[in-house]
Amino acid sequence: MKQIALFERGIAPTPIVEMSGDYGENGYFIKREDMIPFSFGGNKARKAAEFYKEIQEKGADVVMTYGSNSSNHCRIIANMASAMGLACHIISPQENREILYNTRLVEDFGAVIETCPVTEVSETIDRRVETYRREGKNPYFILGGGHGNPGTRACVNTYREIAAYEELTGIHFDYIFHASGTGTTQAGLVSGKLMTEDERRKTGKTLLHQKIVGISIARNEERGREVVRQSIEEYLGDAYQTLYREEELIFTDAYCMGGYGKYTQDVRKTIDEVMARDGIPMDSTYVGKAFHGMRCYLEEKQIHGKKILFVHTGGTPLFFDLLEKQDRNV
Ligand SMILES: *Cc1c(COP(=O)(O)O)cnc(C)c1O
Repeated sequence: MKQIALFERGIAPTPIVEMSGDYGENGYFIKREDMIPFSFGGNKARKAAEFYKEIQEKGADVVMTYGSNSSNHCRIIANMASAMGLACHIISPQENREILYNTRLVEDFGAVIETCPVTEVSETIDRRVETYRREGKNPYFILGGGHGNPGTRACVNTYREIAAYEELTGIHFDYIFHASGTGTTQAGLVSGKLMTEDERRKTGKTLLHQKIVGISIARNEERGREVVRQSIEEYLGDAYQTLYREEELIFTDAYCMGGYGKYTQDVRKTIDEVMARDGIPMDSTYVGKAFHGMRCYLEEKQIHGKKILFVHTGGTPLFFDLLEKQDRNV
């Protein structure tokens, strides 16, 4: 198994920069997780770095995952597997067959893509894992979107970087916003915050009073919240009982715009504005949609004069797919 030097040495903190555009009456900063220097970056690259360690430890020879082959997650996992010289097997739902840049990349990395009806996903995964084992192989399966403890741990690191930045600069963020999908990123950020606050409490430092807001890009509030809460519980273990408080989990489905991949003309406008004014590409499925949702949230709640950090979770190839869409009607 080949090593990936970047993952061996660890990912350097991603930049946090102040934004120049006028996005509402607050100070806006952005954390560029999209600049993680592997396969166009993003939170899936950060998560992959944690799964990488487990794959190494377990001596796996096939990397398996689930997801649409047009997803950021599948691109990064297929890229990682090929970089490690390992086979990659992706189980993909039949229903979503759009050919995007991510799809082409996944194919270029040589991943095997097996499609099945969305209702038969878990049987298909189980059957395939079994087949590999019978053949004497040692498959490692990663949940869709890089969900699970290693993924959460990766995003705790994101929070640690934010806390270190605040400590270093004296800038305090009143709010942290981000796109919430499988909930792993939010679970990591919230867990990181709970642990950081606990450390601050124990060392007599002032508490931060910071709100982390997940903007749902697909899930409804009830299911979305529950998955994030479960991931936090799983990650924190025994500390969950003492550290977790219901009000720390802010997850809104008010800006889902009809579900996964759906967006409005206003989202498109925001994306164009951010690119023109700050030179930052955003996609319409996750980052642009959530950034726009954040603006609406702040406006509706009449939140002004605060310092806001938006976490740019990646998806750069999807920006180019959007660019290719000629008609601007959605
Ligand atoms: C997957 C993804 C998300 C959502 O992250 P979760 O950890 O699944 O909630 C947000 N932005 C981008 C660009 C993604 O690829």
